[in-house]
Amino acid sequence: MDRFEEKIGELLRLDFGVTPDGADAKQLYTAVSQAAMDSLRDGWKKPAGKKRACYFSAEFLMGRLVNSNLMNLGLLEEADRYLKAHGRSVADFEQIEDDALGNGGLGRLAACFLDSAATHGIPLDGYGIRYRYGLFRQYFEDGFQRERADDWLRFGDPWSVRREEDAVEVRFADQTVRAVPYDMPVIGYGGKTINTLRLWQSEPLSAFDFDLFNRQEYDRAVAEKNRAEEISYVLYPNDDTDAGKRLRLKQQYFFSSASLQSILREYLGRHGEDFSAFADEYAVQLNDTHPTVSIPELLRLLMEEHGLCYDEAFSIAQRVFAYTNHTIMAEALEKWDVGLFLSVIPEVYPYVVMLQNGLKQALHNKGINGADQIPYYLVDDGRIHMARMAIFAAHSTNGVARIHTEILKETALREWYAVWPERFNNKTNGITQRRWLALCNPELSGFITERIGDGWITELDELKKLAPYADDERARERFLAIKREKKCQLAAYVKAREGVELNPDFLFDIQVKRLHEYKRQLLNAFSILDIYFALKDGRLTDFYPTVFLFGAKAAPGYYRAKGIIKYLNEIAKRVNGDPDMKGRMQVVFVQNYDVSYAEKLIPAADVSEQISTAGTEASGTSNMKFMLNGAVTLGTLDGANIEIVEQAGAENNFIFGATVEEIASAASTYDPKALCRDNPRIRRVVDTLVDGTFSDGGTGMFRELYDSLMTGASWHRPDQYYLLLDFESYCDAKLRVNRAYRDRAAFARKCLLNTANAGKFSSDRTIREYAREIWGV
Ligand code: PLP
Repeated sequence: MDRFEEKIGELLRLDFGVTPDGADAKQLYTAVSQAAMDSLRDGWKKPAGKKRACYFSAEFLMGRLVNSNLMNLGLLEEADRYLKAHGRSVADFEQIEDDALGNGGLGRLAACFLDSAATHGIPLDGYGIRYRYGLFRQYFEDGFQRERADDWLRFGDPWSVRREEDAVEVRFADQTVRAVPYDMPVIGYGGKTINTLRLWQSEPLSAFDFDLFNRQEYDRAVAEKNRAEEISYVLYPNDDTDAGKRLRLKQQYFFSSASLQSILREYLGRHGEDFSAFADEYAVQLNDTHPTVSIPELLRLLMEEHGLCYDEAFSIAQRVFAYTNHTIMAEALEKWDVGLFLSVIPEVYPYVVMLQNGLKQALHNKGINGADQIPYYLVDDGRIHMARMAIFAAHSTNGVARIHTEILKETALREWYAVWPERFNNKTNGITQRRWLALCNPELSGFITERIGDGWITELDELKKLAPYADDERARERFLAIKREKKCQLAAYVKAREGVELNPDFLFDIQVKRLHEYKRQLLNAFSILDIYFALKDGRLTDFYPTVFLFGAKAAPGYYRAKGIIKYLNEIAKRVNGDPDMKGRMQVVFVQNYDVSYAEKLIPAADVSEQISTAGTEASGTSNMKFMLNGAVTLGTLDGANIEIVEQAGAENNFIFGATVEEIASAASTYDPKALCRDNPRIRRVVDTLVDGTFSDGGTGMFRELYDSLMTGASWHRPDQYYLLLDFESYCDAKLRVNRAYRDRAAFARKCLLNTANAGKFSSDRTIREYAREIWGV
């Protein structure tokens, strides 16, 4: 027995007083994780003298850590063998829930980047918040979304180490808290590089007030503690919308200030008060505007605590910071009310004003009179524009897919691009193939490795070598058998979790992502109804049996998104309960879509639904995960879909709908009411929102959805995401996919060519571009 196994046995005995045969899943999880942590302690040190990049992000959606860490350490097989010898397996770790400290794409991207950087020896550390409660857990009650708290720490946190000695203080107008870091090792594949994810927890300066306690004023004695802990208590459950709340600003400042203090402390330990090398040793990437308050905070720290002048401090900040924009939607561009900002972090505000003056001067030097031009104000109409601040003060602003960056340059941020074109660049998102193929789909991984070797695990472009197998009949048959196996596995999981049976011989058509109007799950719902009516009326006779699967959480305050969930659940109830539909069509909305569910759903998909309105989805990353696992994309020319189709071929995917340009030219005359009136298919499906076909339980939710399409509201035009404009071309494309699926060999060829051409979408490629072109590490 080797050291790792011995250590597991020892931990079980000492910590839980059990033998390996008597241990439960949670005890085994803890012992295996701790034994793995023990094995890497010596190698987990920052190498001296190298520039490090720091990824500041309010979210890290890591998912379950145990399997990926064991795999990267090369211990997964050994752990599984050990567990099997004791009547268990690593599959038992499925009972351990996800580490869900993020909402969706943005937080999951951060997690993929950490994995890729560590795998390729790039010194990149993550900095964020150790939320006590992650993204809410979702369940359905009579088809309505309900939420409960995500108590992720109840399984313990064996992958973190509390670093008491590195705690710092963070000061607000009304309180000062201790930020205590919890460090997680980020283990590269092969275990050679171990970077760090540092998550800050907010705590009181002292546990409680003893005087109050002695006077038996217990509530007041612990009030300060509660107020401090509140800051890192819970993740804001918003995706692509601006929370704009006092506590949110506190969270942002809390982790920004703590992270900067931590970096400065390291630096001071090496250089003393000489800051001339700071920007040569650190790069900080701001993941969206959430950590942008870091910019005035770094100025404050350098000027107030270390005596630098503005020009010196600004020059350092500009060399250090880079900013990633993740959205162009106005409702997601953060702006802080000046009054609120002053009441939370008054000491930082003067540095915002200095930045504003600096901007004026910089524009003046370029011959632009900023005073006349609104977009060039950082503080405008009583609000601080965080994206503008980031673009001005950082040396790099990047979008996350080619079309997104083009839209930033040409439309959303054009005034800024006109002044500083050299700062703008594109970094198309990516995903780690370690989690999203090797771990979640060992069957397809084995198939690939048998044919082209395992180089793809660290160099995804190797997959190109798979392309010739698309024309090999035996390879295609094997691929289809694997796909069926993944469907059976998903079916078993869905049966256990939802109590619903899936037929693995159906076509699996899947849309999983956050619930948002721009992602157009409602359009998918309409198309399903259109097919349903066509089947009922006998207009559609050659439909290949299909299950339409959905997974999505709606932000708890997003009423319309919740209405769409209820509507889809009503459709599911109708379709699945209709005896005519047996063996022909099924609709299933799974509960609590998260990383672990994604790892089951994505490998089982035949069709990946990526149907956002052109120009609204910055990139998307689930589209890449589906492609890698051999699904075809049914999508619009939006975000990274464009690059996916470019890589895998338009003939191997199913593209529909208006382009960005077509939408722009249709916008002024677009009349969804007329479309509805003139097109009976559209009218029939849209009317189901209000004609009593489905019940929203008397909430008025469906009427509100109907009105949003037909009449709009003061803050948006009717059908602002052009569902009805794209309806027909979407339904046509859906039937095209369905017909194509009948020829299983030809369809498998398309799927294999998608996998073979997914190399570009590795986050290894993305992170190398950041390292080389932005950070210089
Ligand atoms: N949520 C989870 C759990 C994910 O794994 C992902 C990415 O694959 C997303 C959300 C983002 O999905 P999308 O790119 O479709 O918005």
